[in-house]
Amino acid sequence: MKSILVTGGAGFLGSHLCERLLNEGNEVICLDNYFTGQKSNVVHLMDHPYFELVRHDVTTPFFVEVDEIYNLACPASPVHYQYNPIKTVKTSVMGAINMLGLAKRIKAKVLQASTSEVYGDPEQHPQKETYWGHVNPIGPRACYDEGKRCAETLFVNYHQQNNVRIKIVRIFNTYGPRMHPHDGRVVSNFIVQALQGKDITIYGNGMQTRSFQYVDDLVEGMIRLMATPDDFTGPVNIGNPGEFTMLELAQLIIQKTNSKSKIVHFPLPADDPMQRRPDISLAKKVLDWEPKVPLNEGLDKTIAFFKTIVK
Ligand code: NAD
Ligand code: UDP
Repeated sequence: MKSILVTGGAGFLGSHLCERLLNEGNEVICLDNYFTGQKSNVVHLMDHPYFELVRHDVTTPFFVEVDEIYNLACPASPVHYQYNPIKTVKTSVMGAINMLGLAKRIKAKVLQASTSEVYGDPEQHPQKETYWGHVNPIGPRACYDEGKRCAETLFVNYHQQNNVRIKIVRIFNTYGPRMHPHDGRVVSNFIVQALQGKDITIYGNGMQTRSFQYVDDLVEGMIRLMATPDDFTGPVNIGNPGEFTMLELAQLIIQKTNSKSKIVHFPLPADDPMQRRPDISLAKKVLDWEPKVPLNEGLDKTIAFFKTIVK
């Protein structure tokens, strides 16, 4: 049995990861400040004898003895991370320093949940890990993108300077049950709007693309990455290469929910990336990983979840 700390464990991805790690027989300490996560995401784990929930903010140091740390604490939706951009930078940068300092002291392995946003509005397509990205350092997404880029730098520096065992995963758009219905991300927005018969809000002309991965595929990828030999640090892309326009996504969701909702267009937010698709050759080679759940199937499961919570 391993003892594992998951920061941001009460969030969408963190709650699925905690559940999977517990099911595999580990002890899990879930740390969260409940900014965008909620206890209800992990309430079903509370009675598990090896699950512990701690309210804590990663911008301040935390002390615990564990074997592994998954560092997921950070708001992920553009609406949430732009709400208090200074706090977003602090969460990524100070959170990374605190978790790396802890890992160094207790000799734990630490995995950073990085993002495809480190590629910014990419000029190379699909994105390989070797691409340095195209990020506006003073734009509205910078607090998140540059915070995550700095966290990657810190991870690599702690590895090189202090021999901390690190792993960096660059996560591409992930969706599934337990996304917050009001977190503003496209999959949750469109499903909630379709179920409520409200207008489907496409920003811009809807021709921008994203590659959507189902949460279970991501969790599998993260666990495989954590188990790689110490000389493999990543970064490694984990995402589903299926690429869709936002217009295609809206039409698919309308069809799946049998909705009467109409599509309406709003202005495209500044610096919104026009295209995004992972090159996953590295994950295939090193982790023997590829996504198993196509968008069609993952959307069905996600819609079924939202039907239980949306009135
Ligand atoms: P989420 O907002 O549901 O989860 C983030 C969790 O971190 C929440 O529970 C929140 O309360 C917690 N948190 C935020 N700031 C904190 C702080 N200062 N201290 C302690 N806890 C804090 O988002 P998610 O989709 O589950 O994302 C989890 C991680 O994965 C994030 O680091 C995000 O950047 C990364 N990621 C997610 C996606 C995606 O598509 N979901 C894509 C790329 C990267
Ligand atoms: N988007 C949209 N309507 C919405 C929410 C988002 O058209 O109601 C678009 C958004 O402009 C972006 C894409 O969907 O081009 C994905 O947005 P999301 O916030 O989910 O993730 P990110 O931009 O961080 O990839």
